[in-house]
Amino acid sequence: MKKFSNYIAGQWVAPSTGAWFENRNPADTADLVGMFPRSSADDVNRAVASAAKGFAAWKQVPAPARGDVLRRVGDLLTARKEELADIMTREMGKPLAETRGDVQEGIDTAYYAGTMGRQLFGHTVPSELKSKWAMSFRRPIGVCGLVTPFNFPLAIPTWKSFPALLCGNAVIFKPAEDVPQTVAVLVEILLEAGVHPEAVQLVHGYGEDVGAALVSHPDVPVISFTGSTATGSLIGAECGRMHKRLSLEMGGKNAQIVLDDANLDLALEGVLWGAFGTTGQRCTATSRLILQAGIHDRFLDRLSSSAAALRLGDGRKAGTDVGPVIHAASLANVESYVEIGKKSGNALVTGGARATGGDLDKGYFYQPTIFAGVRAGDRLEHEQVCGSRLVPAGDQTVGEPGVEELDDTLRTGGHASAAKLGMESEFTMLASQVEVFDAELLFGDHR
Ligand code: NAD
Repeated sequence: MKKFSNYIAGQWVAPSTGAWFENRNPADTADLVGMFPRSSADDVNRAVASAAKGFAAWKQVPAPARGDVLRRVGDLLTARKEELADIMTREMGKPLAETRGDVQEGIDTAYYAGTMGRQLFGHTVPSELKSKWAMSFRRPIGVCGLVTPFNFPLAIPTWKSFPALLCGNAVIFKPAEDVPQTVAVLVEILLEAGVHPEAVQLVHGYGEDVGAALVSHPDVPVISFTGSTATGSLIGAECGRMHKRLSLEMGGKNAQIVLDDANLDLALEGVLWGAFGTTGQRCTATSRLILQAGIHDRFLDRLSSSAAALRLGDGRKAGTDVGPVIHAASLANVESYVEIGKKSGNALVTGGARATGGDLDKGYFYQPTIFAGVRAGDRLEHEQVCGSRLVPAGDQTVGEPGVEELDDTLRTGGHASAAKLGMESEFTMLASQVEVFDAELLFGDHR
């Protein structure tokens, strides 16, 4: 059984605690991926002290040369794409087709960051004062603490670290406990590509130990976090107290709308993928469905039979559509929300139980689940059930001309002609992020 290490001060090292935690495959809990350091605030302190030295050296490297390093990172990620996809699927369960996409997002981000090495422009403006001129220029900030979730084990750490490194900052990774191996490979790649060995650090461990120590460290002026709203709120409060620069990406409760004139084949594919891709565990997962009255029953029928036909299993096996949820607590959480749905009088259309039998008994599998009859204000309508297979498919109808139901929608996908509803402008604003990833686009939502 393999023991993994932290990467601190230019060395792969054991945690100061001498303690380790297990990382197991959620599709087969007998499969132990490895033991990972259960580090403490002492390890974080050493990483921060070393990263300060790494920052001092790395920021002296000319930005175009830092861009060249990032381009090499893209080449190395490309060369190790299949290996990384396999590691990720084993760690967190989503099928290989999806984890390959995760790596591709990292590759695209690396090549995009590479181009920015020659574009860190500032501004010059005429001054209001005589005989003066005014300018602004970009400077790196320092050591950045990057705290990341389990659902995009590679892509999210690359979104956070590549721009920071390109600009001359040092980074400290604190990956989610469920997916620690993926970031260990990313660190190997960054070092091989030529990032200064102290400008990158990796400290494994639990959020309340390592994550909290990183967030509250006075010499880490930038925190970038993606994860649950509950954790993000804690981190936001701490960073506010310490006047840190902070980026937060948290939960979502996203609607797709299907209108009467939609191409239903296309809409079905979009809703199935949006709801059950990554086992419903994306922040952008479709977890509300708004159907116009004319197609409501027909679409819901087709959706429930397609959902019931999805093939569950080990994401590393050919033919698997949907993998397990991430861990036992997630499974229990999904079960509790199914009970909440039933007690609220919502109608269970399909699913609603653990998926069992054969190899499914080895992991954390839950049937694709759909509720209908979900009303505004019901808990299934507005609470995120991350780690779920659950689409609260309401019988909300969309009428002309307004879409007031969407006022609190965080991210939407729409099927059918927006123009028909006379809502082009709202659509443009609400659908600020849809089912695409582009390294050059902002990632964010309307709130
Ligand atoms: P989580 O909040 O449990 O954990 C995220 C990270 O925070 C982990 O690395 C964890 O160890 C760390 N952490 C936990 N407690 C901490 C603390 N007190 N201080 C500092 N760090 C701490 O989230 P998760 O379950 O890994 O991820 C799922 C969540 O992430 C979902 O809610 C999903 O919507 C969200 N997410 C959001 C986006 C987005 O872009 N908005 C993208 C992906 C995931």
